[in-house]
Order: sequence, then structure tokens, then C-alpha cells
Amino acid sequence: MPELPEVETIKRGLAKNIVGKRISGFAADVPKMLNRPAAAYRKTVAGKKITGIGRRAKMLIVDLDGGWRLWFHLKMTGQLVFSGGKKKVVGGHPIREGFEQDPNRFTRATFEFSDGSHLFFNDVRKFGWVRLYRDRELAGRLEAMKLGPEPLSPEFTLPFFRKSLQRRPNNKIKAFLMDPRNVVGLGNIYSDEVCFYARVRPDRRVKTLKDNEIKLLFQGIRKILAEAIKYEGTSFSDYVNALGEAGAYTKKLKVYQRYGLKCCRCRGKVSRMKFGGRTSHFCPSCQR
Ligand SMILES: [Zn+2]
Repeated sequence: MPELPEVETIKRGLAKNIVGKRISGFAADVPKMLNRPAAAYRKTVAGKKITGIGRRAKMLIVDLDGGWRLWFHLKMTGQLVFSGGKKKVVGGHPIREGFEQDPNRFTRATFEFSDGSHLFFNDVRKFGWVRLYRDRELAGRLEAMKLGPEPLSPEFTLPFFRKSLQRRPNNKIKAFLMDPRNVVGLGNIYSDEVCFYARVRPDRRVKTLKDNEIKLLFQGIRKILAEAIKYEGTSFSDYVNALGEAGAYTKKLKVYQRYGLKCCRCRGKVSRMKFGGRTSHFCPSCQR
């Protein structure tokens, strides 16, 4: 699943292309990916202008005039494709070979703009969604999710981080980092990288962390996510940047998917282990 830097990259790529456009049509054929009948979407969004695009955690929020918002989650295999004339912008899951045309048989929702360009939501496995809400309704939904702060916002502070850690002393640190109630946007990739940065094993219990390790974890979250955004994210099987290219942060990864390779810090061997249904990568000699 794309994590914070990948979704932020998609947002930035789309912002340049869809903000300011007016929607002229809508079609969708997978009811479970919507929160109202497709006909209701069509009626509501037709004629509306896109006034902005934002991100919260791993979700995208598209503002429409008239107080409506579209809320996207790409989940495991979702992909957004903007297509207008010769221009094509892809973000999310990579395009499968043989499905370079849009729409294709994985296209689940299509927004048409008044200038003839389109935004396609393609999703092989149909776990993603696009929901339509009024401003206030969406704000309420987001609040109900009890999401933690955005890690790159001023709300995410060291005292806040410390307090959240105190609330969950028995969590394993990786599970803690991936729990969006504590801090949003970190998934399997960046939680491994943050643990490596702080020299902490991902399976350590939160209550065993020393103060300097807490500081390093906090610092690592902000530093690594900011840098990953700069490099337009990390690409493996589930993400390409808004130009349909691999995110350049893949080359910057220190432990994730580097099992058996040399640790770039101590020259030991990167190891991996499984817990909570996920594989964690770490260096057993320099992470304690
Ligand atoms: Zn090492």
C-alpha cells in the first residue's frame, strides 16, 4: 500500500493537473467502492469545479465547489490516472502490461472534465474507494477515525510522541509506528527505516525505550518521511509516482527489502523477521 510519501507525491502530481477543472460526467460500476449510488455521484458532481486537493494520512481529499468533497483511498492496488490529450499522469499502483489504455477493464470510476480530459480510478482488486461527502460530514468521518497527527505537521511534537508511547507500553515499536492513532502515514517500509535510523529493533517493547532512542525515533520519522517525499517515494510492486515512474527513494532505503545484503552502517547482514503478519527488515548488529 502506498504510504505517506507516495500518497503525498500523487497529490502533488494531480494538483497540477486537475485543480481548476470542471467535472462534466461521472461513471462507476463497483457499488462497494462508493458510498452512494453512482447516479447520485453523477448528479452531485456534474458541473462542479475542483478547487483543491489535500491529503490526510494515506487518503486523498479532493475539494469541489459547493461544499462537497471526494475522498479517495487507493488501498493495495488502486491507481489514479489523469489523461488529457497527450498528457498522462499516473499515481499509485503501476500500470499492468497490456492495460496502458484508459479506460481498461480495471477502471472502476471515471470523472470526465469539461475540457475532454479524464481522471480514471483503476483498481485490480477493488479494495480502494472513492466516497462523496459534504464538507462537514467528511470532517466528522475523519474525526471518528481518531487519527494521530500528521508527522510533518507542527502538531507532531516530541512531548506528544512521548505521551503516546507511554499509553502503549507493551506494543512492539514497529506496531506502534504503524498504528495511525499514534502517528499517521507509516507502513511497512518507513517503519523499518525509522527503526534502523534509531538503531532500535522493530520488535522491542515500547516500555524498554530509553530517552535518547525515543528522540531518535521521533527525529527519524520526520527526517525519513521528508526525504522520501523529496525523492517521490519508494517503488516496489504497489506504487509509481505521478508520472508513472518509480519513486527514487527506493535507492535510499537502508534495510527495507535488503535481506541478506550488507548493512550500510556496520557491514553486518540485514536480517528479517515476521510478526503481526508483516515482514520486518533490520540489522541485528546495529539495532538493539
Ligand atoms: Zn548494521
